Amino acid sequence: MERLTKFLQHSYLSLLARVTPPEVDPNSEEADDIARLLNLALLAVPVLAGFVAEFAFFGIWQLALSLALAGVVMVASPWIYWKSASLAVARESFLISLFVFKLFESMFLASVSSPGSMWFIAMPTIAILLGSVLSGVCWLGITTASLLVLYHLYGGTVSMFGNVQQNMDFMYTFSMIFLSVGIVCFVAMVDASRKKAFRRLQDANAVIRQLAIRDPLTGIFNRRYIWERMQEEEQGAQGNAGTFHICLIDLDRFKQINDTMGHAAGDLVLQAVAKSIQSEVREEDCFGRYGGEEFILILKSCDSFNPGAFAERIRQRVAALSLGELGAKIQVTVSMGIAQFRHGESFSETINRADSALYTAKASGRNRVVSAEAAPLPLSA
Ligand code: GH3
Ligand code: MG
Ligand code: MG
Repeated sequence: MERLTKFLQHSYLSLLARVTPPEVDPNSEEADDIARLLNLALLAVPVLAGFVAEFAFFGIWQLALSLALAGVVMVASPWIYWKSASLAVARESFLISLFVFKLFESMFLASVSSPGSMWFIAMPTIAILLGSVLSGVCWLGITTASLLVLYHLYGGTVSMFGNVQQNMDFMYTFSMIFLSVGIVCFVAMVDASRKKAFRRLQDANAVIRQLAIRDPLTGIFNRRYIWERMQEEEQGAQGNAGTFHICLIDLDRFKQINDTMGHAAGDLVLQAVAKSIQSEVREEDCFGRYGGEEFILILKSCDSFNPGAFAERIRQRVAALSLGELGAKIQVTVSMGIAQFRHGESFSETINRADSALYTAKASGRNRVVSAEAAPLPLSA
């Protein structure tokens, strides 16, 4: 069963790929319309076969033959699209052949009370399903007018085919069942398209969201996102006894790297440093680019967590970075200022204190961690 499903899926997808021109974007509306045209042509196969068999069974060969002819055009509509490169041509040839047959059928089978006349609803609905509301409205006009003309000219006509009259109930039921199946399939198709479009929108939103919150050079969070997170942390910490630490990280003498090795090499250094720090950061923390060659870390506090030791580990990790791919032996180091959020202050005040600590780290020789708190954290280097 699984193999059969896979086979059918594969066959369907390769058929769709054959019909869809390479220049059509698979995520476009046109690609959706092409898929629906193919689905409709495939759906038409069993429906048409059922009706051709029914007419043949009752010996109404005129209808069996004319439906087979109309059916060939309908089933070939994806091929017509492929040949003409026009969805409108394919759609209208499908609808015209269906309409001509239904008109013929209704004229010969008891007019508006024939089981075929209920299928006039199919033309406008299919037109809209295949992407053209204008065509749908036109077809609604054509089919309504046709029904009125049929009623006027042939109303009360008894079928001219011999044994149709006594089998009318069966033919009605048969037609009703297929029409119901058709309508359910239509609705399923529309629903599938709606869900697909919604998924696409969600994916696009996710991409946009990532672009809005990520720094393009390093891929880590940008300042805007860090700001949002800090506001959340601040609100969370104000409401309860929890707190957090803010750590500012600044590359030491980075200008020299740019000046001696070029801006592109500087960019590579920034990327390598961001990557190495990111690999140390815990899931609950937040790491981003604060600007230029400065990074920022929001560290969630908990009993077993020592932010000073954590910052020191990051400092060592950066100092041990090997940047051999730049073709020169360069040592990159960072200075860090760390401050704990205090209840009653705003997070920008915490940042200011972390910045002062960073300034102290720079002034006292760089490549070190300095805490803004009264009790100094283990200093390094
Ligand atoms: P200090 O140890 O005092 O921090 O010295 P520094 O040279 O790192 O600091 P300074 O503020 O003098 O220079 C920072 C440099 O960072 C200057 C700027 O050109 C460079 N920079 C900022 N953003 C980027 C960037 O995106 N890419 C590159 N390659 N360089 C950048
Ligand atoms: Mg610097
Ligand atoms: Mg700086």
